[in-house]
Amino acid sequence: MRYVSTRGKAPVRDFAGVLLAGLAEDGGLYVPESWPHFSPADWRAMRGLPYHALAARVIQPFVGDAIPFATLATLCRDAYAGFGHPAVVPLVQIDTGLFVQELFYGPTLSFKDMALQLLGRLFDYVLAARNARVTIVGATSGDTGSAAIEACAGRDRIDIAILHPHDRTSEVQRRQMTTVTAPNVANIAIEGTFDDCQDLVKAMFADTPFRQEMQLAAVNSINWARIAAQVPYYVAASLALGGPDREIAFSVPTGNFGNVFAAWAARRMGLPVARLIVGSNRNDILARFLASNDMSIASVEPSLSPSMDIQVSSNFERLLFELLERDAGATAAAMAAFRRTGKMTVPEAAWHRCRTLFHGFRLDDPGTVAEIARLRETSGYLADPHTAIGAAAASANPPAHGVPAIVMATAHPAKFPDAIERATGLHPALPPRLADLFDRPERFTVLPNDIAAVETQVRALARRNA
Ligand SMILES: *Cc1c(COP(=O)(O)O)cnc(C)c1O
Repeated sequence: MRYVSTRGKAPVRDFAGVLLAGLAEDGGLYVPESWPHFSPADWRAMRGLPYHALAARVIQPFVGDAIPFATLATLCRDAYAGFGHPAVVPLVQIDTGLFVQELFYGPTLSFKDMALQLLGRLFDYVLAARNARVTIVGATSGDTGSAAIEACAGRDRIDIAILHPHDRTSEVQRRQMTTVTAPNVANIAIEGTFDDCQDLVKAMFADTPFRQEMQLAAVNSINWARIAAQVPYYVAASLALGGPDREIAFSVPTGNFGNVFAAWAARRMGLPVARLIVGSNRNDILARFLASNDMSIASVEPSLSPSMDIQVSSNFERLLFELLERDAGATAAAMAAFRRTGKMTVPEAAWHRCRTLFHGFRLDDPGTVAEIARLRETSGYLADPHTAIGAAAASANPPAHGVPAIVMATAHPAKFPDAIERATGLHPALPPRLADLFDRPERFTVLPNDIAAVETQVRALARRNA
């Protein structure tokens, strides 16, 4: 399988190449040169497979010749072996025709683990084949950092340094990162804000000699392999509810558009999907786009669903490329104009095509608290704030009669205990395997907001393990 950039001016690469490259050199995002396709008989043959085996089959066409199938199957088995539920992605019914797919049984309790647990192993395999190492650097205000650390801890060919703003993350989030004491992990607490951390990461990537010396890499949500690793759970949900012989709808609490784009990809590959519902909090750029073809940037406001507090959904560019009928020149021009003006409209016909499949929805914080309480009262289900927005979005956009809707539960409620307590009076407990999180020793280094100090620390990490 070959990959092309949405902006058309970067080298064509294979799966291993796009895994290591992340963003394309022209600023675009890598997408498959052509979409794999499964027939109804192919889908039916996947019914009843354990999740890891289904995942290997669905991901295989994206990997192509880059990794032998037997190896991919082993990597998938290892990636999901540590999950806290034997079904890995169980479905729970909460209303007539309404289901929740729980994606939070990984080590850090958010759906980020679904992709990153596999990504860490894919990196290790591809790097070993090239006899190479990388240093992954990133900034986090929460979920992504801990999931990336868990994915890379103890991997042979990866060092990982994650910057977080000192004293500005929740204690659960900090401890999920700082209690991982593998020698290839460095947690750096910056005396500054999340934006300072992000600027420091950008500065490291911009420092070309440092970037080359350290072989810097990123695992952010624009990495194609993350999308590929998110397609299988949509397939699993469909097959469990009668697919491919029945249409279904998905409701996805959305930030960077990576998760819902994986649902789109499953449909593109032949899975019968009738509707995709995009849930947003008060940061509603996508809901506004779907309502009125107006994608205009507003400032980010903090909310009870922080993983959806975004200004621009970076993976939207992949859908834009498809809406523009894979015209890379038009995509590059639209993105350049968006960058310049902070506004984007797509051609009317393309927007209408988009709207026949995607439905937008927005819910503010009081609405989110009310929905958490309502779900608890009506079905006994305890949803985290992100999942609650997905459930409200599904209720507000019911698909055709007889088409079940599945809400993607992207985080465990115990990750957001304050919102849950406000809504229900309950204090959700951490799952047993994390119950001692508050007793585990922490390890992190506090550094000033200073690029030289951070680079020294990252270099020491890489030297230690070289
Ligand atoms: C990352 C995240 C999201 C947003 O997912 P995208 O793929 O960025 O749209 C939603 N909910 C939770 C809990 C997350 O961690």
